[in-house]
Amino acid sequence: MATAESGACVVARDVARGHISAEEVLTEHLRRIRAWEPKVKAFIRVMEGDALGAARAVDAKRGRGEKLGRLAGVPIAVKDNILVRGVETTCASRILQGHLASYDATVTQRLLAEDAVIIGKTNMDEFAMGSSTENSSCHATRNPWDTACVPGGSSGGSAAAVAAGLCALALGSDTGGSIRQPAAFCGVAGLKPSYGRVSRHGLVAYASSLDQVGPLARSVADAALALSVIAGSDPMDSTCAAQPVPDYLKELEAGVKGLRIGIPKEYFLPGLDPEVETAVRAAVEVLTGLGAEVRDISLPHTRYAVSSYYIVAPCEASSNLARFDGIRYGRHSPQARDLGEAYELARGEGFGPEVKRRIMLGTYALSSGYYEAYYATAQRARALIKADFAAAFQQVDLIATPTAPTAAFRLGEKTEDPVAMYLSDVFTIPSNMAGNASMSVPCGLTRSGLPIGLQLIADCFCENSLLRAAAAYECARPFPMLPEAPRA
Ligand code: GLN
Repeated sequence: MATAESGACVVARDVARGHISAEEVLTEHLRRIRAWEPKVKAFIRVMEGDALGAARAVDAKRGRGEKLGRLAGVPIAVKDNILVRGVETTCASRILQGHLASYDATVTQRLLAEDAVIIGKTNMDEFAMGSSTENSSCHATRNPWDTACVPGGSSGGSAAAVAAGLCALALGSDTGGSIRQPAAFCGVAGLKPSYGRVSRHGLVAYASSLDQVGPLARSVADAALALSVIAGSDPMDSTCAAQPVPDYLKELEAGVKGLRIGIPKEYFLPGLDPEVETAVRAAVEVLTGLGAEVRDISLPHTRYAVSSYYIVAPCEASSNLARFDGIRYGRHSPQARDLGEAYELARGEGFGPEVKRRIMLGTYALSSGYYEAYYATAQRARALIKADFAAAFQQVDLIATPTAPTAAFRLGEKTEDPVAMYLSDVFTIPSNMAGNASMSVPCGLTRSGLPIGLQLIADCFCENSLLRAAAAYECARPFPMLPEAPRA
């Protein structure tokens, strides 16, 4: 019977059959939250009351003999840049303190339509800018495998909550690695869908040409189930593709046999932690043993990915974040004597240092005289990165790489050095620049007991291949779940 250790598939099945009530499932997770949360601080807000109401409504629906949805009674945590109507949505920024979402994001609507129970809003780097969840105006989240370490970011709260069993599933967003890198650091599965696979309506925009919402889960099957629910076209987001959504759970059964997997030499250079390299190469051996065909490939423009991303993303951010003016949204400073001061004070007090850095970078790169040199050049580099992937996917179905160059680092280790922080996304950023699909699955522990992530990358809208390979690997090398934490 489902418990807090079970994942989404088991909970939904057992709730639908009446083997356990949604309320019991929720109570069990709330109990785990009480034990873990003081140490991990994954949440900005635990929605105990709302979640209880939602769980009871699911139980009542079952009581009336109605058919339950695919996520019946599944407790899901939602990153705080995804709107849940009536609930404070801050993106972990002071500028949005007290901002109540006036509508549900499309992904939220789709979860609720399948009878999911939203258990809380998770911590993140402010406006999703960061790789460690230390850039939150609320508090830092800690890695449940070692609380001296970061959980990764920016969806660090979602990854930590899933890893510690505080929810069965979580949603995150990924602009340059923010689902996959924290998934790797916390030992869970995290999937960045292809650009256009999932609606961005109701996701607070960071860099609109890169952002995607995706699931974090303790099993590949749970990630597949969540993706089946949230994917698909949406009249509210014109960049969301009209492609049909496969039943990803069914696709898993196909296995990895016959899939061609490319190993790009540009991802195995000095700077990659030898323990990570060994684990990733061993995982590729496992996939070979399961019938995949492995070949060496090259993605020659990989070296331009981080630098061009740090032009494109801040440019888009500087434009997207212009809407936070203290008048239409969020914080308004009572000291302001005129309109100019109202803007200055709201933004000066409301945004944290990393967000200000990005706005300045983006504004500078877009300014007249610099646009050609920076923005246009970065877009040309982006086209080359995309072309590298297009050429690679002529020869292979999947690409396997490390998700991040190291396992989780310690809190404070990179806060003084933004470039060192940016480099922890060196392997995840290219997939956002190309808009293809990618996923991280746990592939072992370092000697000091920290999870390591294997990244799989597939061509646009080929999430099914990712999930097939990831499920086959997981079946061959199951990854342990964390035991219950001692009470703080
Ligand atoms: N760390 C990267 C950044 O700060 C990626 C963040 C993300 O994917 N949201 O931009």
